[in-house]
Amino acid sequence: MTTTTASTTADAGAPGSTPDLPHVLHWIAGAEAAGSGDRAADVYDPATGKRTKTLALAAPADVEAAVAAAKAAFPAWRDTSLARRTTILFAFRELLNARKGELAEIITAEHGKVLSDALGEVSRGQEIVELACGVNHLLKGAFTENASTKVDVFSIRQPLGVVSIISPFNFPAMVPMWFFPLAIATGNTVVLKPSEKDPSAANFIAALWKEAGLPDGVFNVLHGDKVAVDGLLTHPDVASVSFVGSTPIARYVYETATAHGKRVQALGGAKNHMLVLPDADLDLAADAAVNGGFGSAGERCMAVSALVAVDSVADELIAKIGERVATLRTGDGRRGCDMGPLVTGPHRDKVTGYVEAGVAEGAELVIDGREVVPDGDADGFWLGPTLFDKVTPEQSIYTDEIFGPVLSVVRVAGYDEGLELINANRYGNGVAIFTNDGGAARKFRNEVQVGMIGINVPVPVPVGYFSFGGWKQSLFGDTHAHGTEGVHFFTRGKVVTERWLDPSHGGLNLGFPQND
Ligand code: NAD
Repeated sequence: MTTTTASTTADAGAPGSTPDLPHVLHWIAGAEAAGSGDRAADVYDPATGKRTKTLALAAPADVEAAVAAAKAAFPAWRDTSLARRTTILFAFRELLNARKGELAEIITAEHGKVLSDALGEVSRGQEIVELACGVNHLLKGAFTENASTKVDVFSIRQPLGVVSIISPFNFPAMVPMWFFPLAIATGNTVVLKPSEKDPSAANFIAALWKEAGLPDGVFNVLHGDKVAVDGLLTHPDVASVSFVGSTPIARYVYETATAHGKRVQALGGAKNHMLVLPDADLDLAADAAVNGGFGSAGERCMAVSALVAVDSVADELIAKIGERVATLRTGDGRRGCDMGPLVTGPHRDKVTGYVEAGVAEGAELVIDGREVVPDGDADGFWLGPTLFDKVTPEQSIYTDEIFGPVLSVVRVAGYDEGLELINANRYGNGVAIFTNDGGAARKFRNEVQVGMIGINVPVPVPVGYFSFGGWKQSLFGDTHAHGTEGVHFFTRGKVVTERWLDPSHGGLNLGFPQND
């Protein structure tokens, strides 16, 4: 086993790089690759506001190189035995587990989320690696003996070829891990295009794969922006696209890639509601609203952003949330704070713009995160937990996905009005209900038009062996991520009808085959 150290390379000669900062390169065919592009992006530490790295942005020739490497690796990898594949997967799992602390530090340094949250993200991704370690079981087909006289029928699933993954900034390790463990385990080769905001986690993971013994070219990382994405969406040698990001881009990716004949799962944005009924345990609900609303500074696709409170308990619930928020420490994720900064300066300004719009549109600002005193560098991209009450469905803080630490309370008269509000929303990613009434919870899970439901659980991200995905504008395509749907997405089915000749073969018959 080779020992490779994941690195970002200080390469003063690379286009767009600067001599004093590390330059993040692509990872193609088992090694870092400078690429041929002459464009670069800046990478920041959100807790200091400082530029810490530069990043190579792919040119069309780099897309070609990454896809060619994956294509070249495919024939041997698809024919590699399941026993050998799982040996590599187990080795990768061990390395990931042993080095998850380092990976979490890389995530915190570029994304800003606090270290414990970054560790949690890696652990949730590791679940899918562990699922993929059992691929030999997941790939088992069905067999029917003697379906017709002396005719046996069986099904097999085979890999697609070169598959692409395009991921967002908010989970630079976990979201790629929703896809690549199963893609690789089922015999595909991968080109991952991570977010340009926090690219280094992908290179660290690539080096772990190499150390685990994965053949070169099976896992490639192509850094870039729209040029790289468009190259993958239209490339004739790319069989599928697994995308996660905002809804407008998800729709674009789905439409473009399906028009080019690809299998596509494109997971989009969200507005996740949490309905609190009067019989709920309000302390539990207040904890959940704070954890779900402000964890990872609200930059989670499963964050609670709309708290739908039945009017009779809304005042008490808001008071309890206020008590809890007062104890939170916003600051540098490496200092044991509860909540970190937002990912970039422009994103922080966009979220702050929504706070201003909420005030202007008449919502009641209960907690103003703009006044936060962070435990961190003054130049960090800070915004503290923000709470609005008496938000109405027309206001932009309700209609739009804000993707920041802004929780909007919408008051309703009761269950029916709450359900109607949630079902009228264009998104359908996650939802939660807080109640002690099992009948109400059961009715809710039956009636709500959302893909992932929490009952007294605020951020109901399914475990790895179930599948993750929303409804409506939170998902384009029909296949969710990981679990059995993930296996299905990365494979194509074949059904074999087989007969070995014996003296009783049937002779000519031009009619449609019938079984007897
Ligand atoms: P984004 O849509 O801006 O970017 C996602 C990916 O698309 C990135 O790799 C980016 O480089 C690429 N991209 C951006 N603009 C593009 C363009 N014009 N053409 C082609 N490619 C483009 O999303 P983000 O800001 O990185 O992530 C936050 C969003 O992701 C939120 O909307 C969040 O809800 C969503 N998200 C959804 C889920 C889910 O499971 N549904 C999970 C995580 C994040």
